[in-house]
Amino acid sequence: MSVMISTIIIKELVKSSEHQIKELGKIYSLIPATRCKRRAECCSLLPDATLLEALSALKCLMTFTVNRRIKLLQKIAYYFFMNPVEVVSCPFLEDNDCLIYSHRFFGCRAYGLWSGKYYENLSGKSRHAKTFIRKQWGRSGISLPTAVMDFHVPYCSNVKVGKNKFIDDQMLLNISDRIETLSQHFGQWDQMFRQMYFSDLSFLVASLIYGFPESVRLKFTIVSDVVKRGIREKLDKTLLEAYDIFS
Ligand code: SF4
Repeated sequence: MSVMISTIIIKELVKSSEHQIKELGKIYSLIPATRCKRRAECCSLLPDATLLEALSALKCLMTFTVNRRIKLLQKIAYYFFMNPVEVVSCPFLEDNDCLIYSHRFFGCRAYGLWSGKYYENLSGKSRHAKTFIRKQWGRSGISLPTAVMDFHVPYCSNVKVGKNKFIDDQMLLNISDRIETLSQHFGQWDQMFRQMYFSDLSFLVASLIYGFPESVRLKFTIVSDVVKRGIREKLDKTLLEAYDIFS
């Protein structure tokens, strides 16, 4: 297996990504500010991200106090292990607020701005992916709960852009492309994050804490324990072992 992304690599990438993170901020600023009722329904799931966006969020995490960071790392690990069996809110959500708001991902910013038709298209792809995931687990004799597999974040029509501002699907797609292109600066790591970690920051964080193969093995054991035996001992023990990877 090729060298996976380690904490040392992440620290190096964060250190060398100052310019790209600044550029990312400029691209994000093309998305008009929105008004909404802040019901945080859109935060029911952790959105996929590019490696650059993941680095920006991790950079923000590095500024937290150690205790706060460990708690958040545990929440992210919980999300990674339990999302096949529970609808787990985004780990960055706390009391209806986003802990990394100024570093939140494109997926968060674009939610509610897509047209209903395009959002339906995105939801269809997500449903398709879930069907595949369900089959994969099913091959190992684990039947994931229907309520979780059928769950998807509903389209929100409460998000409105400010006066005299406009955005459409094509503009959002262009912005998304620009973010992806910027993230390609990280070469093999960007590619690895997409292909091996499925653009999932929670998978990356769990791998940094427990190791790549071990986090996959742990997820299988934890999900199997919860689904087949209704027990969470392994999950609790594993979360207690989470440590501050950035100290
Ligand atoms: S990163 Fe923040 S805005 Fe995005 S889903 Fe999570 S809590 Fe919500």
